[in-house]
Amino acid sequence: MGNLKPFIAGNWKMFKTCNEAVETAKKLVLFSADVTEVDVMIAPPFTSLAPVSEILKHSDISLGAQDIFWESEGAYTGEISPPMLLSAGCKHVIIGHSERRQYFNETDQTVNKKISAAVHHHLSPIFCVGETERQRESKETFSVLDKQIQNGLRGISSDDMKEVIVAYEPVWAIGTGKTATSEQVQEIHQFIRSLLERSFGSVLAKSIRILYGGSVKPTNVKELMSMKDVNGALVGGASLNPETFSDIIHNYK
Ligand code: PEP
Repeated sequence: MGNLKPFIAGNWKMFKTCNEAVETAKKLVLFSADVTEVDVMIAPPFTSLAPVSEILKHSDISLGAQDIFWESEGAYTGEISPPMLLSAGCKHVIIGHSERRQYFNETDQTVNKKISAAVHHHLSPIFCVGETERQRESKETFSVLDKQIQNGLRGISSDDMKEVIVAYEPVWAIGTGKTATSEQVQEIHQFIRSLLERSFGSVLAKSIRILYGGSVKPTNVKELMSMKDVNGALVGGASLNPETFSDIIHNYK
């Protein structure tokens, strides 16, 4: 886990109406009131951001969005801008999630534009990278991650990099119940940190939190988080239930 404060984030994906999101957030605030050693974030769908933000005001849990557009405003039907996310109470935004890469034509280039826009507006990006099962089987994991990281962070300054959190999410482990072993995760996180070191120097690279995502549960979080270069978790399915997500937050060490 290293000596960085752990960051545990819940990605609610396209689940929960406004009322359901508010009720879940209320329970989570209650269940996690005693948590001080972990930074906790939840990312509800866009429609629930503002009402959930009201609930989180009474807690240390921060709010994130699941995507962003790079322009501040304009004729871009259906898109949501950085100032809009800030006005809804967001501090973070997930960028480049594999589901967006897979189903919505997200590319390393659009990811890069989104990260640049987010840091410009002081929204902290959670920058997702990860290989598919086919890429892992054909031993392309390291080259895929290298390309995603170099392209995604192109032009990002060291100063802006202080706001960025990286999430390693092997696509084959998302929503499948298959978790990478802690040794596999550590090997990749160490590699990602070495890439960050190459671009931003070792002091900054050591201060960047690298999260693991992919079927994290209360039963495996501790083992994953015990790895030196794992500084937190991005949790999908298991973050939808406030009891389960609270167990993850409480069980991390
Ligand atoms: C995710 O969507 O970021 C994720 C890791 O999902 P899950 O935990 O369900 O595998």
